[in-house]
Amino acid sequence: MGLRHNLGSGFRTAFTDVVFAIADWSQDERFPEPFRDVFVENDNGWRCGDSRPGPDLAAAVVSCATIRTVERPHLLGMQPDDLLAHLTGSGVATRPSEARRILAHVIAAGRPGFPSARPVPARLARAVEATTDRTPLEVLERAVDLRDGFVKYLLRSPDGALSEAVRIPLERPGAFSVCLSSQVGCAMGCAFCATGRLGLRRNLEAWEMVAAFSRLRSEAPGLVTGAVFMGQGEPFANYDAVLKAAAVLADPCGGRIKAESISISTVGLVPAMRRFAREKHRYRLIVSLTSAIQARRDRLLPEVARWPLGELAGALRELHEAVGQRVTVAWVVLGGVNTGADEVAALGELLAGVPFRLNLIDVNDPRPDGFQRATPEELATFRDRLRSLGVPVVRRYSGGAATHAACGMLASRLVGGDRPPRDGSAGLAARC
Ligand code: SF4
Repeated sequence: MGLRHNLGSGFRTAFTDVVFAIADWSQDERFPEPFRDVFVENDNGWRCGDSRPGPDLAAAVVSCATIRTVERPHLLGMQPDDLLAHLTGSGVATRPSEARRILAHVIAAGRPGFPSARPVPARLARAVEATTDRTPLEVLERAVDLRDGFVKYLLRSPDGALSEAVRIPLERPGAFSVCLSSQVGCAMGCAFCATGRLGLRRNLEAWEMVAAFSRLRSEAPGLVTGAVFMGQGEPFANYDAVLKAAAVLADPCGGRIKAESISISTVGLVPAMRRFAREKHRYRLIVSLTSAIQARRDRLLPEVARWPLGELAGALRELHEAVGQRVTVAWVVLGGVNTGADEVAALGELLAGVPFRLNLIDVNDPRPDGFQRATPEELATFRDRLRSLGVPVVRRYSGGAATHAACGMLASRLVGGDRPPRDGSAGLAARC
């Protein structure tokens, strides 16, 4: 006979459910012994069938429980090889082309479910629905900056964690990029950054980054052609998940974004930079330098002070040798702090022999006593001085300031961004 027990929708609680099921069933006189076919079924219709001769109910159910305690991996964090391994490992015969079709359906085409016109046989669609997670992120807020079209999203993960992502209009009409968070909060504590004042809550998983991308792309009034990991968090402090998310975004069955159009930023975690160079990725790495003077940089970016600037320059050199192109260095322009001749001289000395381009980014500090933007005159003088280095200098537009969507402002009031600085850095501008 067959015995069905509804376990609810979550695999995460499956083991507990099965244990209770054993207790329930063993005392239920309606079911004759021996049980020959024991299977359990959840809300999604997936079942763990286990035909065993004899009355060994406990062993059969525990066998199911053992299988079911493996958490369902999220489909949005997978590439075709991952899905193929997952399904075949779960005993579901799958061809590589079927795994590709499933992910192209769900991620590339952005269709969360499997309607009757499904891309694979019903048996396989059911197995995917039952053994993988496809929970989306919930959108709590959309804040549109009417001046420049930036849209900041506040997203909630299933465990309640809040993160933010920003849709960025590109110069080409109808083209967009998305700025993704890699962590909930950030442990780096950069003096000019609102996210840094949150502290770190947790890392985001690869699927959460892909889910944020998918959500923003689905609502974009045009084509999303790029992605930048420059939202909340230090991407290299969550290296594996960020690189996995980037791989899914670049996958032809995933986000279908050109690898060269995916940028990852870091404040300079040297070991991770070296790893990135060794792995020879095609994504663009943007390294935030912001000061070439050790003592000043240590105050501005305290968590990376453990790696002296000489080590950072060595990692940038390795990166250049690995990719054979100019490396990209970012400089958050802090009026009256890091725009002087001393910085330009130190920068020239530090990166002598390393081909680089410099992205200047205006600081966005909403605190009344926080860092100020450079005046137009100060900025012009700084750029004139930088020309002496003979490197391309680009001023990057950092939009969305009106909705706190700009660089350094991602710290929603819902996740505590209105708290006072944990490190008393509000007055730091005066000390740098
Ligand atoms: S600038 Fe980036 S690394 Fe620094 S605190 Fe902000 S989010 Fe973290």
